[in-house]
Amino acid sequence: MPDILGLKGVGAARAKAFARLGLNTTLDLLRYYPAGYEDRTNILDIRSLLPGLSCCVRAMVAETPRESRVRDGLSLTKLTAVDETGRLFLTFFNSPYVKNSLVQGKTYVFYGKIEVNGGRVCMTNPVFEPESRQGAATGRVVPVYGLTKGLTQYNLRSAVEQALERHEVSRDDPLRQIHAPDDMESLQNARDTLAYNELYALALKLAKLKSERMAKTGHIFPPLDAGEFEDSLPFKLTGAQRGAIAEVGNELSSGTLMARLIQGDVGSGKTMIAAYAGLRACRGGFQAALMAPTELLAAQHYATLKPLLDKWGVVSCLLTGRITPANKAKLHREIAGGDIEFIVGTHALISKNTVFSNLALIITDEQHRFGVSQRETLQSKGRDAHTLYMSATPIPRTLALLLYGELDVSALNELPPGRTPVKTYAVNEGYRERINKFIEKTVTGGGQVFVVCPAIGEQDAADIADVGTVHARLSAAFPRFGVGLAHGRLKQKDRAAVMASFSNGEIPILVATTVIEVGVDVPNANLMVVENADRFGLAQLHQLRGRVGRGKRESFCVLFGGGAGELAAKRLKILENSNDGFEIAELDLQLRGSGDFFGTRQHGLPELNLPRGYNISVIQKARADAERSLRGL
Ligand code: ADP
Ligand code: MG
Repeated sequence: MPDILGLKGVGAARAKAFARLGLNTTLDLLRYYPAGYEDRTNILDIRSLLPGLSCCVRAMVAETPRESRVRDGLSLTKLTAVDETGRLFLTFFNSPYVKNSLVQGKTYVFYGKIEVNGGRVCMTNPVFEPESRQGAATGRVVPVYGLTKGLTQYNLRSAVEQALERHEVSRDDPLRQIHAPDDMESLQNARDTLAYNELYALALKLAKLKSERMAKTGHIFPPLDAGEFEDSLPFKLTGAQRGAIAEVGNELSSGTLMARLIQGDVGSGKTMIAAYAGLRACRGGFQAALMAPTELLAAQHYATLKPLLDKWGVVSCLLTGRITPANKAKLHREIAGGDIEFIVGTHALISKNTVFSNLALIITDEQHRFGVSQRETLQSKGRDAHTLYMSATPIPRTLALLLYGELDVSALNELPPGRTPVKTYAVNEGYRERINKFIEKTVTGGGQVFVVCPAIGEQDAADIADVGTVHARLSAAFPRFGVGLAHGRLKQKDRAAVMASFSNGEIPILVATTVIEVGVDVPNANLMVVENADRFGLAQLHQLRGRVGRGKRESFCVLFGGGAGELAAKRLKILENSNDGFEIAELDLQLRGSGDFFGTRQHGLPELNLPRGYNISVIQKARADAERSLRGL
């Protein structure tokens, strides 16, 4: 593919900036869909302008622009323009070129946001072009791209336009309409078509995988009565757990090959489903393996499962990279010999030296943290092994049916009793002082606080909170309290040390990135503050707030970012109103057309490239069409 280096306006330095966005070829540019649009098609009379509205005005410059120097480094250029219905007051900051490019008596089209001051209709720093050349910057729908340091909207738009020309993308191609829409209606059509094409291809691939699996036969494990299983537990199962156990149980008796996803919020009790399936396998003389992405999670699973497995007379072990070579060799022998039946572990399970005697059930926890090849390696260690995936990523049902097209899904949409729901508040900067007081009150009351930021280092955009800056601010604000700092660029050892001091209560406040998302269990933590919450996906925020509300204290989650526009505020409101991950994901899907659960890499599939704002009905259509065409083959 042609390199983008060499496009007009793209030299070595700019090419580097493009590369930071993953844009190396002109084809990459075509697939880099706009993050949003400015509808500049609306051209209005001055009389009908309303404050707050962004629109175009066709008006004649009524006077020579006046430039004045307000203070060092700040100059203003002012002028008025008129149409038959009124007068428009224009102000430009630091734009000396304006006085030469706007000529008295000539007509231009201006695009900008309307303000009304003392009865005067005003625009500040509008985009403009002569009426005669209208159509480039005004009078059309203009794409707005995600940027990085060293790139402007102009750079992106110009590069994409050149890419469209180079590939001779025609006017009616959705790829052109997504970048340079004729109007809002053809934009919507382009979004729907592009989304459909992408989803259809994926759905077809998944449906094929599933039909291949259905043609295979699977081991039949001897029955185990679900009631008897429940009687061996220290608690009653939830209704959702019972349902999932019934589904898994039927499948393990049916002779088909199982590939099932157990989907449920953090704390919904997915491990019990794994335990039931594992018992079925082991009591039939087979082995079961459970692979978790971290040592911590593997150890937690083992702690939960061991007493239960002991009770049933099933021999189990924990196999991680941490155990001594001598112990490891011993475990390897016992696994290979079939003496150990249920093996819980980390990546150590897929090492060359781990050989199973009769592996017939493979369970992976948080499977998106493993690559495809890792899961395939584990799969290859068994023979036609049944698989269970456990995931806490809430996906709306509409989407789950498509994305997990090759899997069957059991949903645990119910939490065991006793967890305190987290009270959530979406706020704007106006609440900063109040929230600081709240942090103080929480800590003096014996609680602990997570403060989560989207960034590690200082950002190009000044309004994005990074952990360093926030850590410094809180340390200054609360000199009496210890404030810890944890992020992915710390050495593993240092990060573990900070986490440990927070866990044991030495440090009451922890400023962190999303490294705290998985597996951190500090029951004493009862307040989470998220900076720039609008920068996170809703499902991710929901998972984050699952870090509080784990103990007896009443717990709170405060989301800053309510000031980042109407859509952002609406999205954060969803979290205020719901504690159900599936519902949150479904509403997010409706609002944005996609959500942050679109990590198809999670499933070893190519990342989907979906435009924002497509009509979600295309999801169902793509799936139905894929299934129909597969049946027709
Ligand atoms: P997750 O779905 O996040 O993996 P776990 O399986 O780790 O959840 O369960 C979370 C905790 O809840 C564990 O300590 C587990 O023993 C406990 N638990 C699971 N099911 C129930 C239940 N039905 N009633 C009470 N506690 C339960
Ligand atoms: Mg779990």
